Amino acid sequence: MKKSLLLNKGSGRNAVQVTIPNKKLKLMAKKCGADLCGVASIDRFSEAPPGFHPRDIYEPTRSAIALAISLPESVFASPASVPYSFYAAQVLNEVFRSTLKLVRELDRIGMVAVPVPSEPYEFWDKSTMTGKGILSLKHLAALAGTGTITRNHLLTNVHYGNRITLGAVLTNAEIHPDPISDEPKCPASCNICRTLCPVSAITDDGVIQNLCRSQSEIVNEKGYHLYRCRLCREKCPLSKGKKAKTRPSK
Ligand code: SF4
Ligand code: SF4
Repeated sequence: MKKSLLLNKGSGRNAVQVTIPNKKLKLMAKKCGADLCGVASIDRFSEAPPGFHPRDIYEPTRSAIALAISLPESVFASPASVPYSFYAAQVLNEVFRSTLKLVRELDRIGMVAVPVPSEPYEFWDKSTMTGKGILSLKHLAALAGTGTITRNHLLTNVHYGNRITLGAVLTNAEIHPDPISDEPKCPASCNICRTLCPVSAITDDGVIQNLCRSQSEIVNEKGYHLYRCRLCREKCPLSKGKKAKTRPSK
């Protein structure tokens, strides 16, 4: 295992930095339950908005690790909101558990590993119902080579399509980064997601959250949080990625 000396800025003490080869990290992430793992070097975040840069969370960040877990093939088999809401919540919990397992493994070998979950988050604008994660996980995932942000503003992977849930870990270790991918791409003539959106929430600049949330999310009288619209995800021709039988066994 490669070790190098660096200044530990957090404590002001010299510390031994441990790092890990990219391939070994991916095997570790797979053992922790992730279907996808990619690495972005910190220099790729030069366009992150103020307050939402990895170093705003953990100043010594040198690498950002993207994780993703795929949703089952059957996720859209039923149009009912309860099965889809169940998938979304349970896969999110799996991502939380995988992230924590990976943090533990990296911590165990001497790396500092800071989890970046999609929630909870701090930024919430009540007037526009706009929430922002402490980091944009889809931008992090794209910078780590795990997919592209397609016209529906979802992170889309070649093999798993947009049927994935994202997580991330920041570390002080320099890990060899993955190449940024330019696949998959929206077909030039496709506009299905925007045409089908019942509230025209998808724009070039992003999804207008108050329009989308008021259409897609409900809390019923019992207090259950349910999703009742997923058209931009479901109807996208890139939604499934390559067919399951051609998926890599990584
Ligand atoms: S989830 Fe529904 S309402 Fe929200 S952007 Fe997608 S299609 Fe529009
Ligand atoms: S529906 Fe078409 S335009 Fe929208 S994200 Fe999918 S491929 Fe791109």
